Amino acid sequence: PPAIRKISEKHDKVFVTGCLEPDTSQPRANAAFVVLARNKELDGVIQSMKSIERHFNRWYNYPYVFLNDGDFNQTFMDTVKNYTSATVEFGKVGPEMWGYPDWIDPKVAKEGVNKQGDNAIMYGGMESYHFMCRFYSGFFYKHELLAKYEWYWRLEPEIKYFCDITYDPFLKMIEQNKTYGFTIAVKELRETVPNIFRYAAAYKRLNNIESQGLWEMFTEPKPEKKEPPKPEKPKPARLPDVDPEGMEGEEYNMCHFWSNFEIARLDFFRSKEYEDFFQMMDRSGGFWMERWGDAPIHSLAAGVLLAPRDIHYFRDFGYRHTTIQHCPANAPTRQLPRQPFLEKTTTNERERREEDEYWESWDEPKENGVGCRCR
Ligand code: GDP
Ligand code: MN
Repeated sequence: PPAIRKISEKHDKVFVTGCLEPDTSQPRANAAFVVLARNKELDGVIQSMKSIERHFNRWYNYPYVFLNDGDFNQTFMDTVKNYTSATVEFGKVGPEMWGYPDWIDPKVAKEGVNKQGDNAIMYGGMESYHFMCRFYSGFFYKHELLAKYEWYWRLEPEIKYFCDITYDPFLKMIEQNKTYGFTIAVKELRETVPNIFRYAAAYKRLNNIESQGLWEMFTEPKPEKKEPPKPEKPKPARLPDVDPEGMEGEEYNMCHFWSNFEIARLDFFRSKEYEDFFQMMDRSGGFWMERWGDAPIHSLAAGVLLAPRDIHYFRDFGYRHTTIQHCPANAPTRQLPRQPFLEKTTTNERERREEDEYWESWDEPKENGVGCRCR
């Protein structure tokens, strides 16, 4: 929560206050939902579609693009189309965007993945999860089915929206000149990204990029007393030439935008700067030797390349993915008696308290303020 405040207080306001009749009079943005999924996730996909259709898309009718490294079967495609009246497209993700790239020795990479499995790193031993993270980090926006779009809204199986969204978030982002929108920011599991910051910071430093104020959301000054950590033994497939001590006295605070929800401009990812960033991260081997998620990759790229004013915190969207959720301040679940897990779920008592304090100190009206018709 303190990290969210770095963005929200000065730079970013809720787009719409109170509850509106859905305004569909303006033309739609050039945008689509993007869903990466497998056939076996059909039930979860339907759950997510029912939710977004009920709370938003039955009025706005944005198209869907479904992507899969395998082939969608007929049942999947027929069923999905039954749950929306919007256009639906299905695409395959080719080997150039999925799997091991040709510049890496797949044996070395596979060993790296297996080792993370042995060390019980979450999803670390799961090859396909690494493929998925790299795809969402460096490729989805290059998929031919997305070529015609300027904006996307990422949707995952088994998510839930609680509140009606009665305005068009794409149009608001365009109007307010935003680039990237999120609903939840959380801390990454440190062991999944031990070296991610070395490379992100090196990208920033080697390209002489000045922070525009967002970098500070993801970094903390290094504690003074601490001995500099010993550089890890170089692993195969790592860049040899990045100086691990040259990070200007900062370290990663593990904060990241939780990327299972994103509304963003595709041209941010299609920019030369983002491509250079991705190449540097990719060539380090970190998608294999560690289990870098697309969430910290997107976040650190935003930290280097964007400013707080470019980011929008969708604090009025009620949203849940698995165990973590965000509930707007005026939602019924926020009213007494307080249900402690409904704001944001974490197993950590201290974090929950911080979250509560954050909401207590939130300076926007808590009743009939942000958000709308939550249930
Ligand atoms: P989590 O949210 O981090 O627990 O990861 P998920 O299992 O939800 O995966 C993130 C997204 O990628 C979801 O939309 C999944 O459907 C999708 N996904 C993950 N692995 C694969 C895969 O191997 N193939 C395909 N086609 N989609 C995948
Ligand atoms: Mn998921």
